[in-house]
Amino acid sequence: YLNIRSVSKYFGELAAVRDVSLQVKKGEVISIIGPSGSGKSTLLRCINQLEIIDSGEIAIEDDVIIASDADGQRIRLPERQVRRGLKKLGMVFQHFNLFPHKSVLGNLIEAPMMVNKMRRNEIEPYARELLSKVGLADKADAYPNRLSGGQKQRVAIARALAMRPDVLLCDEPTSALDPELVGEVLSVLRQLANEDMTMLVVTHEMGFARDVCDRVVFMDQGQIIEDADPEKLFSNPDHPRIKAFLRKIL
Ligand code: ATP
Ligand code: MG
Repeated sequence: YLNIRSVSKYFGELAAVRDVSLQVKKGEVISIIGPSGSGKSTLLRCINQLEIIDSGEIAIEDDVIIASDADGQRIRLPERQVRRGLKKLGMVFQHFNLFPHKSVLGNLIEAPMMVNKMRRNEIEPYARELLSKVGLADKADAYPNRLSGGQKQRVAIARALAMRPDVLLCDEPTSALDPELVGEVLSVLRQLANEDMTMLVVTHEMGFARDVCDRVVFMDQGQIIEDADPEKLFSNPDHPRIKAFLRKIL
């Protein structure tokens, strides 16, 4: 469904993402783990074009959103196709990135109104439904600075869902949270996984990766060095680097 082929991204000489290929099927939940600086965030940012890749191709369903030819030259793609593809992606960031001057409800309805040109009364009922789903129906009128970190992140998830994405990309959604708030966010993600949301989640929560994900991808120095089901990757990884990493954090 989401198809990443030979994607590379350089920052000067540094290959932050090096020739990475990854296919995500519809309904699959994949976690990306690996040491700091291994390119996990950069890969997610390449997928939704917060970074422009140097070579490779990314397609969502039938919509190729970025491509390059054999010489690494960007191929011009129809703008409508790119926009249609990008709209299928939702993103949740480590630091929430809520609009501070908008209420919780305002955060949810902003993009559907501005990007999809929906009227307020068309989107508001769904936005309220999403707030109930993440357990924040009573916070619709609150402003982000009045919320806990866990509540902010649940708003951010609901906001991403308000655009009805087909794939949710999450970059360390719980890393900025106090330990006691991690569970409430993971349980929302777990619920989405059970509802067959397609998700690509960068995480340090090994319990989540192990219990919820269909596959775990391990990145090291810009490359995917193992892509396996959680059982295999956590109990018997092929790569010694992974064994060392797991030994350090588990
Ligand atoms: P972490 O677990 O710490 O979040 P990560 O796996 O997400 O790490 P990235 O943030 O993707 O790692 O970074 C990969 C490499 O690219 C790192 O060496 C980083 O310093 C470098 N990098 C990332 N963003 C930029 C940038 N905008 N300019 C230059 N170098 C960058
Ligand atoms: Mg990162």
